[in-house]
Amino acid sequence: MARIVVLGGAESGVGAAVLAKTKGFDVFLSDNGNIAAKYLEQLQKWEIPFEQGGHTEALILNADEVVKSPGIPDSAPMVRKLIDQGTPIISEIEFAGRYDSAKKICITGSNGKTTTTSLIYYLLQQAGLNVGLGGNIGKSYAFQVATEQHDYYVLEISSFQLDNVYSFRPDIAIITNITPDHLDRYDHNLENYVKAKFRITRNLRPEDCFIFDSDDEITVGHLSRIILHAKMLPFSQQQEVPQGAFLRDQKIVVRYEESESEIYLKELALGGKHNIYNSMAAALAAKAVHIDDKTIRESLSSFQPIEHRLEPVLSIRDVLYINDSKATNIDSAWYALECQHRPVVWIVGGTDKGNDYSILDKLVREKVKAIVCLGVDNAKIHAAFEGIVGRDKMKDTLSAAEAVQAASAFAEAGDVVLLSPCCASFDLFKNYEDRGEQFKEAVRNL
Ligand code: ADP
Repeated sequence: MARIVVLGGAESGVGAAVLAKTKGFDVFLSDNGNIAAKYLEQLQKWEIPFEQGGHTEALILNADEVVKSPGIPDSAPMVRKLIDQGTPIISEIEFAGRYDSAKKICITGSNGKTTTTSLIYYLLQQAGLNVGLGGNIGKSYAFQVATEQHDYYVLEISSFQLDNVYSFRPDIAIITNITPDHLDRYDHNLENYVKAKFRITRNLRPEDCFIFDSDDEITVGHLSRIILHAKMLPFSQQQEVPQGAFLRDQKIVVRYEESESEIYLKELALGGKHNIYNSMAAALAAKAVHIDDKTIRESLSSFQPIEHRLEPVLSIRDVLYINDSKATNIDSAWYALECQHRPVVWIVGGTDKGNDYSILDKLVREKVKAIVCLGVDNAKIHAAFEGIVGRDKMKDTLSAAEAVQAASAFAEAGDVVLLSPCCASFDLFKNYEDRGEQFKEAVRNL
């Protein structure tokens, strides 16, 4: 019996281990840290041998194949040893793809993955298709392949999950956009990061679709250097495209094969320029699986905003509080500011990922009346924006409650208080969800 060793005991790893077990492999799971209670329970339920708090070489180096969780870098000593001795290392997505004949719509990119994935999932559900949602969202893909039966999957796939993909083939691949992020995992080399994202396209056949943002210079630049055999479906807000989606007279025009259909921008459920891109990508994916125009239009207008992504929280004394805690890089905060039409009190800060704040200068000048810094070290934010909003219109805070109090003191009727932090959350919070929850709680307590 072939031996599969799974490295990492969270959603992805445990899902892969369960799938390996159901397929009759000799499975072993090893996690260097602690495994959360809910995953321990699953491992026990499925009778999967495992270890935590360290790796036992003898139980790992004898694997025929290793499934590595996306959080573990290639530089981890155990991974190095496996690479040195030539053991094949694959990702959970690669492994699960071998046992799944459903049609797969796979979404990667720097920003907008979760929104686009959720939109497409909703569209397919509204069309009455039997569809599973997975990848980075919710239950792992492998676990669903092991325990459920779907005709379609909509999978959000991070570049880490693509790193160890070889034969996996989506029927529809989407790259939402590519902006520098997580470069620390790619030797600070943008080209490596771009190539990792493009791995989603490597096995596309002529009948498969590639949906991409043709306004995105990095994506288009890379496309000019490679050959793809798939049906190309660009989306653009800047120019008309022969096949794909573009803007005309305040409408999205979707051209797919012989058909052309339109969706009014004002009918889209999700506001903001970035969500026009996300809606275009979703509409194209829906067209490619032959969903009718009426269902596409209705679904794009009835979709509910997702938590922590430009999520309206409450309006208090005519000040609207918006939770965009998931905006952890400059580009996402750019779009969040760009779509505000009322004066903004902006809550920003956290763990800086090498941000170049000058990209936001123009928007801050136009839209932001005051800045509340929510982070341990706010020096870079002060240096970037004091000259624009003024020292007296900036305040440092160390908790969500303090930040919301400070923001409400700056805000007047008609303003927006926008938490769109541009930074990771780990200096003051467990994660971005925790930051968003605490923000919402503080708003409710005002
Ligand atoms: P991801 O899953 O790629 O992190 P999300 O859909 O969770 O992306 O959105 C994260 C943040 O990025 C949102 O809060 C929003 O402000 C911003 N965003 C969403 N879509 C886009 C887009 N297409 N381009 C740029 N920024 C976006």
